[in-house]
Amino acid sequence: MHGRLPSLIVPRKAESEVLLPPVADDEVLHNNSLIQQLIMAAKDAALLHGVLMRTKEEPSSSEATSYAPFSLFPSPVPKKLFTQACEVQQDFNMLVDRISQDSEFLTKALASTVEVDDFTAGLFSIYKEVLKEGIAQPIVLGINRSDYMFDRGLDHNVSLKQIEINTIAASYAGLAERVPDIHRHVLNFWGKSDEAAKVLSNPAVKGIAEGIAKAWQLYGSPSAVVLFLVEKVSRNIFDQRCLEMELWNKNIRVIRRQTVDIHERGSLDDDKKLFVDGYEIAVAYFRTGYSPEDYQNENCWQARLLIERSKAIKCPDIATHLVGTKKVQQELARSGVVEKYLTECPKSAQRIRATFVGLYSIDEGPEGDEVITKALEDPESFVLKPQREGGGNNIFGEELRQLLGTFKDGPKRSAYILMDRIKPQTVKNYLLHPGTPSKLSDCVVELGVFGVYIRKCRKLIMNESPGHLLRTKSTEFADGGVSAGVAVLDTPYLI
Ligand code: ADP
Ligand code: MG
Repeated sequence: MHGRLPSLIVPRKAESEVLLPPVADDEVLHNNSLIQQLIMAAKDAALLHGVLMRTKEEPSSSEATSYAPFSLFPSPVPKKLFTQACEVQQDFNMLVDRISQDSEFLTKALASTVEVDDFTAGLFSIYKEVLKEGIAQPIVLGINRSDYMFDRGLDHNVSLKQIEINTIAASYAGLAERVPDIHRHVLNFWGKSDEAAKVLSNPAVKGIAEGIAKAWQLYGSPSAVVLFLVEKVSRNIFDQRCLEMELWNKNIRVIRRQTVDIHERGSLDDDKKLFVDGYEIAVAYFRTGYSPEDYQNENCWQARLLIERSKAIKCPDIATHLVGTKKVQQELARSGVVEKYLTECPKSAQRIRATFVGLYSIDEGPEGDEVITKALEDPESFVLKPQREGGGNNIFGEELRQLLGTFKDGPKRSAYILMDRIKPQTVKNYLLHPGTPSKLSDCVVELGVFGVYIRKCRKLIMNESPGHLLRTKSTEFADGGVSAGVAVLDTPYLI
């Protein structure tokens, strides 16, 4: 960079007034000519490093491609909380896996929900059918991502608090692995090479590929392939391709199919081996199937059932998918539940519980009535969540108060849970979205940590936490919408 280098970079110690100081101070953030140069360099670095996404206008074609939205600067993340999130991931892997094997717990936890929520009921009926028939494949591959915010408590301390754990189609490992290269370049371009050297590497997608490759190997048929189940329209295809490439590089063939293809051309042989278009499927990896739109008709449900009944290693299997529901998350938060599943490792249970905020059942009855009354009085302190994934479904503030008011006297309320609202600190950054002029925004960050595990014969033979995902969004969208395109890719700058 030419000219005067603005003074800056994160103070060594967070000061009490500003708990999370931004990587760039106000002087830099308002230096328009510097910012414009950095933005130009950053966008080209994103394209060069493969941080890509198909465009809104042509979401089904790779002819029109741009950079995936990202933040100009990395965001400050307290080292202690980052380490805490990485360290608790193997505990979460273990917990999710154990819950997935307890049909009594899952049945009880979801009983009221399946009465009123058709989508969860559809998944649950597949689960029951598979249990009745008997599980054909004892090997389970889990790939999940536990998401957190840094909650700013009344005492001004920040703490790590879980938003949710995604047990199906946990995305963005591929792009997240490439974002550090952009931020290193931005910092270098700006003349901050020492700081650039501190930007963390993130081998998330390599670790996930290791898990899939290991599962493929355990399946034990060298000619069998890995099936990626994908949506009809995949704007985020490059993220998936990063993972595919890792597998191809290990000489593992990957095929991409939609659920409808499985219905039309999938079959089981006498041994329950799954075949699609002549390929035997070793691993069925879901990047779709988590939302009602993914099951447009009965054929899609039939296809999911066929896969679940098969000998293919499912990622996730239907039980693990159900463990990721908001209702199960809420039931796990009840006193003693996590502890019961991890009796021989109380430290794991403690580490997990430390990340929980209050989660509440609003099923009919005095327990639900009490929390509904509290939420109606103080809606800003709660989030109302339906059993949906993929962003944009949660309900906040005044809307929460109104909706809760409309169904508080009927069974429909069992389709939702209430959760304490996490109040993260904001940090200023420039968020870059293709085709939109970038402006300085107040932002909140969300840290995800990936987990990968394999269970064989009731034992975990792999339990890893290969990498992370940092996403940032403007406070304009603080009430939800992470995956609805408003959250951008980021990297943690540890302080
Ligand atoms: P989804 O499965 O749709 O992604 P999440 O539970 O991850 O649902 O929530 C989506 C978004 O809503 C989060 O990224 C976050 O911005 C916001 N959110 C969810 N739970 C909370 C909470 N307890 N406090 C504050 N914000 C929350
Ligand atoms: Mg989420």
